Amino acid sequence: MSTLASGHAADRASSGSSPDPSLGLALAELAGRIGGQVLLPGTGAYTAAATPWNVAVASSPVAVVAVADAADVQAAVRFADAHDLDVVVQATGHGALAHTRPSLLVHTGRLDEITIDPVARRARVGAGVRWQQVLDAAAEHGLGALAGSAPHVGVVGYLTGGGLSPVARTFGYGSDLVTAFDVVTGDGELRRASATENPALFWALRGGKGALGVVTAVEFELLDVARIYGGCLYFDGADAERIVSAWKTWSATLPEQASTSVAVLRLPPLPAVPPPLAGRCTVAVRFAWVGDPSEGERTIDPIRGLAPVVFGGLDVLPFPALGMIHSDPVDPMPVHEQSVLLRELPDTAVRTLLARTGPQADCPQVIVELRLLGGALAREPRQPSAVCHRDAAYSLLTIGIAAPPVVEATARHAGELMAAMEPWSGGIATPNFGATSDPALVARRYDPATLSRLVTLSASYDPRVRMAASHPVRAAAGLVQTRP
Ligand SMILES: Cc1cc2nc3c(=O)[nH]c(=O)nc-3n(C[C@H](O)[C@H](O)[C@H](O)COP(=O)(O)OP(=O)(O)OC[C@H]3O[C@@H](n4cnc5c(N)ncnc54)[C@H](O)[C@@H]3O)c2cc1C
Repeated sequence: MSTLASGHAADRASSGSSPDPSLGLALAELAGRIGGQVLLPGTGAYTAAATPWNVAVASSPVAVVAVADAADVQAAVRFADAHDLDVVVQATGHGALAHTRPSLLVHTGRLDEITIDPVARRARVGAGVRWQQVLDAAAEHGLGALAGSAPHVGVVGYLTGGGLSPVARTFGYGSDLVTAFDVVTGDGELRRASATENPALFWALRGGKGALGVVTAVEFELLDVARIYGGCLYFDGADAERIVSAWKTWSATLPEQASTSVAVLRLPPLPAVPPPLAGRCTVAVRFAWVGDPSEGERTIDPIRGLAPVVFGGLDVLPFPALGMIHSDPVDPMPVHEQSVLLRELPDTAVRTLLARTGPQADCPQVIVELRLLGGALAREPRQPSAVCHRDAAYSLLTIGIAAPPVVEATARHAGELMAAMEPWSGGIATPNFGATSDPALVARRYDPATLSRLVTLSASYDPRVRMAASHPVRAAAGLVQTRP
């Protein structure tokens, strides 16, 4: 059953809301031959589907195709090609990209397949599935999945950017466990990508985000873990210097069973925020331990004793409760994110960071977070991928509100902080944090050889540059090549 959400596509096109007057008729024709829906501007369904989780990112595609299966994705990509539209792909909009060219938005929310093979310890999920759904389905078989800190993030968007989990040091990047993708590449072909089928495409999709095509389903290994020990200890912001300095020294000694991050928080006084954390500066130490809980408890003990804990705690957690460790925001909001990777964190770097983000600083960010990398993240996966900078030691991320009256101060502060941390970063970054279409920032995610190979593959699988996400990657390669 096909549907055109407004039923007035031709009228809408002739009223000038589309760049091409014949587009409305063509969209009506598209709606008649797909299983999903074509949603048009001016309808509630269009607004609901086009609006990303990060509501600060403007989204005004000429139409949304809410695809029902891979054939719909092919139809949408071919339609975009025939009408000179870019293809934007969105599952949840947590990593929405600003895009100015006329585009068709492929919304994957209806691709909701979840198949768990408990014997092979594998999952196959559709591109519209979020991590919490996988965590819950895997837990029915006593298994875990390498989800990120926010389980309402989409599985495919996360895995195509690497995927940094709260248990990442034990298991590596989420994409390291991927075994196959089904993908409609920018040329409109449905392909399978794995170690043995289209291996170059398989390499590129793990780290290359949506630059080569629209993934319709992904298959990956599950974890033989039903429980972890973990949680978060919150301290008063006044203790920031002591906590962050001690965290730095302590975390450098941790085995791979432990993953941890530290964050300076300025959470707003909203009903969803626990009163001890609301409207003040606090410091959070997040910790996850895969293995004997008592060993995990002993490992975090030195941190627990540093200062009074004002909120939070650690316990044995069922794996689907992974999201409790960071307690990331759930509801859509206007977000400004910026991120770099750090190669090292000497004392001067900690001082530089806290001078701009500590309790005395005029810091507009809601969250400033350092995640410890290393461990399994530093190892190349069995099947090499486009995920770069595995030797980075930390990721630094700022999250602020991208709305008046703080939007400008937030962006300026984040830029100044990242510039101040440049001596310890060398300008490297990871694809999932700080969604951006800025080629200069995209270039930081890859080493030159990887970027060059991504562009070669993009030219082969998306020769007419239909994928919106391929533009900044191609432009980034130009920047790298023209560097002195
Ligand atoms: C609160 C919060 C917490 C986060 N925590 C973590 C974390 O712990 N670890 C981590 O690694 N990341 C984390 N992220 C970043 C997140 O992984 C990325 O923003 C990711 O891109 C979100 O994917 P999505 O599908 O939910 O978002 P969307 O905005 O729908 O997609 C983002 C991008 O992913 C790509 N993409 C999505 N679907 C497809 C598809 N079917 N085919 C091809 N490309 C596709 C596209 O490039 C798209 O532009 C977090 C983000 C937020 C907002």
